[in-house]
Amino acid sequence: MGSAVWLNVTGLDDLDTKTHSEIVVRFRQVLEPLCKAAGKTLTITKGDFRGDLNLEFDSVTDTISKAGCDAVFGSVLGEDAGESVFVRAHQDLRVCGPVDPKTGLRDLRKVLTTSWLLGPALATTGLHELGHFIAQLDHLEDPTNIMNTGKSQPKVADRTLKTQRDFWAGSLTFNDDQKNKLIAQLKTGVWLGDMSFGP
Ligand SMILES: [Zn+2]
Repeated sequence: MGSAVWLNVTGLDDLDTKTHSEIVVRFRQVLEPLCKAAGKTLTITKGDFRGDLNLEFDSVTDTISKAGCDAVFGSVLGEDAGESVFVRAHQDLRVCGPVDPKTGLRDLRKVLTTSWLLGPALATTGLHELGHFIAQLDHLEDPTNIMNTGKSQPKVADRTLKTQRDFWAGSLTFNDDQKNKLIAQLKTGVWLGDMSFGP
C-alpha cells in the first residue's frame, strides 16, 4: 500500500479558473487532514487517467428537475457513491422562497451566481459522493454536515437569498464519527462504496 492517495478530477477545465481553484482549495481543506491522519499524502490531479479516487464535474448532463421549486427531492446534484457532480443543476439552484402575499410572486433568483459560491457548493457535492464511496457514509440531515441531502435546508417560509447561499455554499464538514470512518478506509485503501470490492 503506497503512502499517497491520488484523487483525479476531470471536467475542471470546463469551469472558469476561479471556480476551479475554489474546488481544489476546498478539497484540500477537508481531505488533507484526513489523509494525514491515515499516514498518507493527498495528490490531486486532473487528467485522462484513473486515480485511487475519481470525480467528474459534468457541465453537460442536465439533471435539473422540471418541477422547479415544487420538486419534492430537488434536482439531482450528484451521483450517490458515483463519480459525477452535475454542474448545471448547481447553477440552476434557486431561492424558492415563500409566496409574497402582496404580489403573489416568490423569490426565484439563482443562488450560486459567483465562483466563490458555486465552487464551494460543487466541492461539497464532490465530498459527499466521496463520503459514500470511501466509507459508505450514510445521509445525515444536519445542515452543517457534508452528508446532508438538501432536505435539511431552511423551510420555504424562511428562505432568502442569504439563507440559501449560506446553506448551499457554506463550509460544511464531516463530524468526528464520519472522519474516523474515512480515516480507517484511507489507511487501508479499500473503498467500501466500490461494488467491485463487495462480498
Ligand atoms: Zn448521498
